[in-house]
Amino acid sequence: MGTNLASYRTALKLLGDIRRPRAVWARERDANIRRLVLEAYNRNTFYRELMDRHEIDPTRVEGASDLARFPVLTKADLLAAGEKLVTQGRKPLMALHTSGTSRLMGEVKLDQEGLNTVRSLVLYNTLLRGRISWRPLLGRVRILAVLMLGHSTHQLMALTPQWLTRIRYLDIGVSLDEMLDAIRAFRPHVLHAYPSTLLRLARHIEEQGICLDNRFFHVSSFAEMLDERLRIYLERVYQAPINNFYSTVETVLLSKTCPKGRLHLTLPTLLHCDVIDSVTGAASNEGELCVTNLYNRCTPLIRYNLKDLVRLERGLCDCGWTTPLITCLAGRVSTLLRLPDGRTVSGFALSDVPSRVPQVLQMQVVQSRLEEIACRVILDGSNDLGDTLARIENEIRRIIQHPGVRIVVETVSELDTRGPGRKTPAVIPMEHS
Ligand SMILES: [Zn+2]
Repeated sequence: MGTNLASYRTALKLLGDIRRPRAVWARERDANIRRLVLEAYNRNTFYRELMDRHEIDPTRVEGASDLARFPVLTKADLLAAGEKLVTQGRKPLMALHTSGTSRLMGEVKLDQEGLNTVRSLVLYNTLLRGRISWRPLLGRVRILAVLMLGHSTHQLMALTPQWLTRIRYLDIGVSLDEMLDAIRAFRPHVLHAYPSTLLRLARHIEEQGICLDNRFFHVSSFAEMLDERLRIYLERVYQAPINNFYSTVETVLLSKTCPKGRLHLTLPTLLHCDVIDSVTGAASNEGELCVTNLYNRCTPLIRYNLKDLVRLERGLCDCGWTTPLITCLAGRVSTLLRLPDGRTVSGFALSDVPSRVPQVLQMQVVQSRLEEIACRVILDGSNDLGDTLARIENEIRRIIQHPGVRIVVETVSELDTRGPGRKTPAVIPMEHS
């Protein structure tokens, strides 16, 4: 029970952190950075060699701004480092496996201290949803998780504190009726699934006029793009707030959607994030997201490039959270559309399209041939299409700027789920289609 209470206390502290003045959490973050860098230099062969090679004096790293002197690491660097990446004196108790689109398998090891923090993160995210709730203390919280079983998300869910939760898993491949039966029988407080799964089920509920008769504490969505319009639609159908979060195996939790519907970095004292330009590698507001994990000392990650594309916003949100805002951009670095003239268009150039056209809940762009781009959309209120399809076509044409490419826009009821973990990719480039 001691560690349970400690997890709860840490989770409550994290809830407080996101509302503290920036200068306050920045001080604590910088102290954590100093500790991480010193330990990495003194007890981690990989980082000692790296700092020596780049002439970084660990005692002169004072905080986040000094991290820019570290080179950006990729998954290939970590794989090459092997056992050198494990800090001496930190006993690995659990390995979290990373896979993802790079098709490289890696692992992040956690010692007891790291594992305790991860348990608090899962509690903070799954049960507390960015505000204090007494629900977890009133009884065990029932979570229905619809996932590709065996995937890394499943392994993270296994870290959800058992004393507070009962989790039932359904494979993402089950029918919508089986999902509805599971909701009726299990009566979950939390439904946990990709946005595409939530959308598929929500449309079925609406079209069939089904009464769910279940009160959700919240509905968790993750791992795929969730536009504002889709969030509002899902909240209406499930009659519950959507807890949208962004997680990676390397960080466990990275960011969450605030009560105003915007995505914030939510672990200001435990993670530091910086963004680099995809071409030049220089610090930028838009580009590839690099993380420095301040709580995992067993496999330290300093400026590790997640290869996810984001835009970092500078201002403060009016929700009361002081942490930085980010916008996730569709697709990863490797997702490129190719044009007949040899140019490429990065998948994230298309990420604003759904928000510009009314009725679009989800969109997927597929390139199967050089001269043709197919755009599949799921619309809200599909009876009156109006000029929606033409507007989508115009938006895409404006971005790719090539008259020789045929753009086919069609409405569908389901999108292709061929991403890792059977996710729904926003863009499927030619080499994958
Ligand atoms: Zn906010």
